Amino acid sequence: MRQAADDTEERERRAAIIQACLEMNRLGLNQGTSGNISLRWQDGLLITPSGLPYERMQPEDVVFLDREGQPHGRYKPSSEWRFHRDILQARPDTGAVVHVHSTYATILAILGREIPAIHYMIAAAGGPNIRCAPYATFGTEGLSHNALQALEGRSACLLANHGMIAVGASLEKALWLAVEVETLACQYHGCLQVGEPVILSDEEIARVVEKFRSYGPEAQKGNSQESA
Ligand code: 13P
Ligand code: ZN
Repeated sequence: MRQAADDTEERERRAAIIQACLEMNRLGLNQGTSGNISLRWQDGLLITPSGLPYERMQPEDVVFLDREGQPHGRYKPSSEWRFHRDILQARPDTGAVVHVHSTYATILAILGREIPAIHYMIAAAGGPNIRCAPYATFGTEGLSHNALQALEGRSACLLANHGMIAVGASLEKALWLAVEVETLACQYHGCLQVGEPVILSDEEIARVVEKFRSYGPEAQKGNSQESA
C-alpha cells in the first residue's frame, strides 16, 4: 500500500484540490458533487473521489492514480478519471484538469453549440472557438476520446448534454479558465436571446493569443511593451 498521506508536499496538493473544489462551488460553477478536479503528481495524478461532498472531503480522501491507472486510497476515484488521466498523459504542459456542469456552458452543450469568437477572451482557451465534444456516457472511454479531440489545440471544451472541461499548467489557471469559459457561455447565451452576435475573425484571435503570451504580472516587462 502506498504511504502517501505522510508526505507533506503531497498533503498540501491534496488540500489544494479540496480548496479548489470549494472555490468552484463558491464561484457558482457547480452544485452538489457534480464536477471533479485532478492534478498531475509524481508519475500519476491526484483526483477527487467520486460523489463525496466537498465540505466533507479530507486530504487523505483524494485518490492517487498511478501510471497504470491503479487507484490508491480508501474511496473510488472520480468516475471521470479516464479523461483526467488521458488529458494529462497526452498533454505534458497541462498540470491540472477541472470539470464542471456550470449552467451556461451546459446550456450551450445541451444545444450542441460550440462557443464562437464573440469576445477576444476566447483566446484564453487557445483559439477562435471552444468546441463541443459529441455526447458519450459519463465516465466512458468514448467520452475521453471525444473530449481529447475537442481539446485539440485548445485548453477548454464543452461536453454535449453534460458540461465543460478546462485545463491549465496549474490548478489556479485551470480554475480561472473555467470561470472565463462560463462567462463566455453566459455572454453568448445572452446574445442569442437578442440577435446575431458579431464574430471576431480567426486572424484577430490569433493576434490576441499572441498578445496573451506576454500579458499579466508574470510576463517579462520587455515582452509586454513589445506586443502592446
Ligand atoms: P464524480 O462524482 O464521479 O466525479 O462524477 C461527477 C461528474 O461530473 C461526472 O461527470
Ligand atoms: Zn460531469
